[in-house]
Amino acid sequence: MATPGKPVSIKNLVKRFASTEVLQGVNLDVKTGEFISILGPSGCGKSTILRIVAGLDFATSGEVLIGAKAVTHLPAWEREIGLVFQNFALWPHMTALENVAFGLELRKLSKDECRRRALEALRLVRLEHLATRYPSQLSGGQQQRVAIARATVINPSVLLLDEPLSALDKSLRKDMQLEIKSIQQKLGITTIFVTHDQEEAMSLSDRIVVMRAGKIVQIDTPERLYSNPVDRYVAQFVGETN
Ligand code: ADP
Ligand code: MG
Repeated sequence: MATPGKPVSIKNLVKRFASTEVLQGVNLDVKTGEFISILGPSGCGKSTILRIVAGLDFATSGEVLIGAKAVTHLPAWEREIGLVFQNFALWPHMTALENVAFGLELRKLSKDECRRRALEALRLVRLEHLATRYPSQLSGGQQQRVAIARATVINPSVLLLDEPLSALDKSLRKDMQLEIKSIQQKLGITTIFVTHDQEEAMSLSDRIVVMRAGKIVQIDTPERLYSNPVDRYVAQFVGETN
């Protein structure tokens, strides 16, 4: 039903704020349809990577490719990317349907077509029946599902999720994890999921990127990170204690 995902290639990404190098040469290849998590403590540079891939910020040096295309100089709206943030960032004065349709209206589609596609995206997150509600009339989990519908409605090649579950109650998080995974598989979309929660990364990911202070320490499958961590830092993140 959707555009197949595209691979993402991040090449030697460096980001400096004043004299601080917050990304120190990050290299990462995400395969088509892969679910990859970037895992690391607060401040290690996870969001900075996503913002640069999304085109919300620019690298000091390095390159990002989506498919075969270098997007380094493309603005965000030309990158075929869906973005979901921790705080949902829904527009409070718009209904769920209007929030989802908004991204399409910028793309010169007819009103009917926008409505049809927005409803289809809401159906994917099982919220079609609440399409006319405002964000304040929805639970946290429902708001986050609207945010996911809004991100996927444009048929992006890549889905970027920045700690999308951390504002939710612990009891809801497990359900939302399953939901995100099921949507990702249905759409076959390449996904980069940022989290500081090792359990989340372990249960969702095809591969996990472990970061420390602006650098990648290890990239591996959950199983291999667990059985072959490169150092104590990685071992600690995946729950090994010896
Ligand atoms: P994470 O998402 O892993 O918590 P971030 O990517 O948000 O980390 O931030 C990485 C580092 O870059 C942090 O030390 C943060 O303080 C710094 N940083 C992020 N944005 C800016 C900015 N606009 N100006 C200066 N420093 C920033
Ligand atoms: Mg962050």
